[in-house]
Amino acid sequence: MRLILVGPPGAGKGTQAVHLAAHYSIPHISTGDIFRANLKEGTPLGLQAKSYMDKGELVPDSVTNAMVKDRLTHGDTANGFLLDGFPRNVAQAEVLRAILAEKKTPIEAALELSIDNAEIIKRLSGRRTCRGCGKVFPGQFEKCDACGGELYQRDDDKEEVISRRLEVYAEQTAPIIAFYRQEGLLITIPAVGDVAEITASAIRALSQKLS
Ligand code: AMP
Repeated sequence: MRLILVGPPGAGKGTQAVHLAAHYSIPHISTGDIFRANLKEGTPLGLQAKSYMDKGELVPDSVTNAMVKDRLTHGDTANGFLLDGFPRNVAQAEVLRAILAEKKTPIEAALELSIDNAEIIKRLSGRRTCRGCGKVFPGQFEKCDACGGELYQRDDDKEEVISRRLEVYAEQTAPIIAFYRQEGLLITIPAVGDVAEITASAIRALSQKLS
């Protein structure tokens, strides 16, 4: 299964990606997670990405595309992958299409998680992330239930950055929905409600689409 998750920040892409990747036994490739891991380790890539991430802007395509191209050469992607947070604009979608066309392994579906802006702001400004493993929690949690790590608020989940991230989504990322619709790959499901129910509805929609 070669799958892309599309949706605004806070739609639950990261959470659903973990469940869907486990269900299909494919790696979860999150460009945001890769950037954050590089930032934590202080690599040149992390330093390059930091100023953009802090402002809620996209890291330049040249940097992001090269990073994804490299990740897709790893052996664990042989049976598929789930991309979370990439592509983030039509130029990245076109580069991805070209990379995969060369390998003759095109994307099979783009799953859009649909949610309105008021719900997003409520979720993002409350959410906390584990410093240890990156798991995301609603505001009332104090420690990570997976690894015991400390929870923190991502700099880019602060209110002033959230509004910029939403603008960037509307201006630059939302057009990829039309791109994948045109490619005949788009599936849209509502992303509000119980996490397990959303996962189940995603799996149902995907199996219908791919049958
Ligand atoms: P995320 O965890 O997906 O919300 O990503 C966090 C931040 O990483 C974004 O706000 C961007 O600054 C950067 N980022 C992640 N994925 C991409 C991408 N595909 N293109 C450019 N920047 C990205």
